[in-house]
Amino acid sequence: MSVAAPAAAAATVGSVLAAAQGRLASSPSAALDAEVLLAHLLGTSRGALRALSRDPLPVAALAAYDALVTRRAAGEPVAYIVGYRDFWSLRLTVTPDVLVPRPETELLVEWGIALLSPRPKPGPRVMDLGTGSGAIALAVAVELRDASIVATDISSAALAVARGNASSLGVTHVSFLQGNGFEALEPGLRPDEGRFDLILSNPPYIAEGDPHLSDLAFEPAIALTSGPDGLRELRAVVGGARAHLATGGWLLVEHGHDQGAAVRALFAQAGFEAIETRRDLAGHERATGGRAP
Ligand code: GLN
Repeated sequence: MSVAAPAAAAATVGSVLAAAQGRLASSPSAALDAEVLLAHLLGTSRGALRALSRDPLPVAALAAYDALVTRRAAGEPVAYIVGYRDFWSLRLTVTPDVLVPRPETELLVEWGIALLSPRPKPGPRVMDLGTGSGAIALAVAVELRDASIVATDISSAALAVARGNASSLGVTHVSFLQGNGFEALEPGLRPDEGRFDLILSNPPYIAEGDPHLSDLAFEPAIALTSGPDGLRELRAVVGGARAHLATGGWLLVEHGHDQGAAVRALFAQAGFEAIETRRDLAGHERATGGRAP
């Protein structure tokens, strides 16, 4: 009579990945998630994992992998489980104190860099309002070495993560300031000293009570929600930016896929010129910008 063979003995990297993918099937990125978690556990890359497909997985690794897959299956972002997320060309440390940087936010970085290349003037002044992990500020910083960059956040826990990222990347031309929106800026500066050539912001823009929030339960609510219509922070950023922009300076903000018209109206109301909305790779209106006259 044959008893069931111990599954662990037969487990290979390939079979374990396939089983994990099955358990994570409700995630749109099940295969990727399964691979990133196993590569992290084995201290290798996703590419190298493919070559190991037929190799047996040690029993101890199997149990540890099972624990990681269980966390992911409960909805925890892979970035929090492994402790990092790649954004732009950077690997950023992320913790539950910060929003996990999203690929669509690279649109804002790309647009901002293009506006300052070639430089209208050397040493442009750039601000990232609500920097979280530091994603936007640090991506701009590695591309524009002569820029002077200010990154703010209301959360000192988030700023600690962002500062840690700057220091791991050897970035020294970003200053981190704690405070609510533009209030983080030093009040003592003369108006002209405080003017920016480019202000970027990916503020919280989800409406309180939005059903999508249940998928984002692990991320800080303060980084996600923004009043009953999701536009509270966008109103504050767009309404407050003109006072901090140099003549001809640009404000670029990220927003929800259905907020393009409302955000363009905010820019128009605030007197911006050359107002334009750009779409993300999924084809959704995702970022709006305008130039200060
Ligand atoms: N600026 C950060 C990012 O884009 C954080 C944004 C936020 O917390 N809303 O990832």
